[in-house]
Amino acid sequence: MGALFGTSGMRGIVNLEITPPLVLKTGMALAASLDHCGSVAVGTDHRTSAEAIKRAMVAGILAGGCNVMDVGLAPTPTIVYAGSKLGCDASVSITASHNPPEYNGIKLWNSDGSGFSREQEADVEELILGAQVPGVEWNNVGRVFQRPHASRTHIDAIITALGHVDGFSVVYDGGCGAGSKVTPYLLRELGCKVFTLNANPDGRFDPRDHLRGEPLPAAGDWNRIADLANLVDTVFATEADLGLANDGDADRVLVVDETGTVVPPDVLIAFFAEQALKEKKGGTIVTTVESSMLIEEVAKKNKGKVVRTPVGDVFVSRAVKEHGALLGAEPAGTFIFPDLHLCPDGPFSAACAVRVLAEHGRPLSEILAVYERYPMGRLRLECPNERKATAMDAIAVELEDALSGIKGIDTADGIRAELKDGWILVRPSGTEPILRITTEARDQQALDTTLEAAQEAVGDIIARVTR
Ligand code: MG
Repeated sequence: MGALFGTSGMRGIVNLEITPPLVLKTGMALAASLDHCGSVAVGTDHRTSAEAIKRAMVAGILAGGCNVMDVGLAPTPTIVYAGSKLGCDASVSITASHNPPEYNGIKLWNSDGSGFSREQEADVEELILGAQVPGVEWNNVGRVFQRPHASRTHIDAIITALGHVDGFSVVYDGGCGAGSKVTPYLLRELGCKVFTLNANPDGRFDPRDHLRGEPLPAAGDWNRIADLANLVDTVFATEADLGLANDGDADRVLVVDETGTVVPPDVLIAFFAEQALKEKKGGTIVTTVESSMLIEEVAKKNKGKVVRTPVGDVFVSRAVKEHGALLGAEPAGTFIFPDLHLCPDGPFSAACAVRVLAEHGRPLSEILAVYERYPMGRLRLECPNERKATAMDAIAVELEDALSGIKGIDTADGIRAELKDGWILVRPSGTEPILRITTEARDQQALDTTLEAAQEAVGDIIARVTR
């Protein structure tokens, strides 16, 4: 990871970490990395700082000699899809996803919808951190073209890909984010009756229908249950067939079934994987080291192969491209359907969930009941940042003695050990002085045993290396 780009582009607090001068330099560096020619699509989510950051980015790209296609306020996948259709050489989404309102960020995308790789980001970063980012002469400065129809382009493409589905009622929670510009319209055009919640893009994430007096939800940060309580209640109250939520920039989707139960993202990955494998009679599914062994089970039954990548949608999209995979997915709710593009696409994923109902003719809870919900456990163990690497080296050597029945170790991202009936992952946090342990087993007892043994072994190692 570089000094400026993290696991999901460049992100930070506005005017402290993400400042207009830095963003301007980033725009110039991006144009330089594109050889000072061609065009770049630029769009934003709904944050209060969106215009300030966008104008700095646009100024940098123009001064660097590229044209800008300004697609305005739109979800990340919409910006990226429109950028590709407009023939742009790259796209920029200005968003901090589900982070709180004081944050903003920049994510760079290739014309096929994949995120910039670590190497591409490193090239841009080197230019930003250099003494001076090269610009162009006065007669080569770029021009801005307004392209306000990105949402239309994206919706049309999804409807063409999936066709119309009539007769379903859906509750959509936009989390006051940019998804509200696309997903509810898309669902209506698909043929659904749509109830909306928090479908007013609001840079303060202050949903006006928030009734419970709980802390205000961030834009679609569904790790906080308060975010989803209204969605669950409304699905139940309206007897809807489905509930759908997007995060702040709508590259993620979360699904609630007709009983008001949140569908575990791993179950949704397994389901979409099985659909794709059945349709194409086998193929590759890409997911990260963090997702459930359910995916392997589904793949095995359907002539499929699973490729696991480090955590982060950039790794997933890259592997999807490399392996010609049918689907890429992360348990954070990101789904890449490469038939459309390589960008995680919340509106498209939402439409796919509705399509499922039409194809199966049964309630979603029944369709998904065949998938096992294996117990997963998570632990956070404190470890100073400067000792993380030493601790991880020791864990790689000693884990095999600490846990019985290790069948293989994968070091794509942290240490992931295959156990007889499950797996365990130890990863250092990218931002906090913490090692995270995640484990999955076939039953709670096996899970508890593994978690206890891992906690003791990793705890001892941390104590030893920090002594
Ligand atoms: Mg996001």
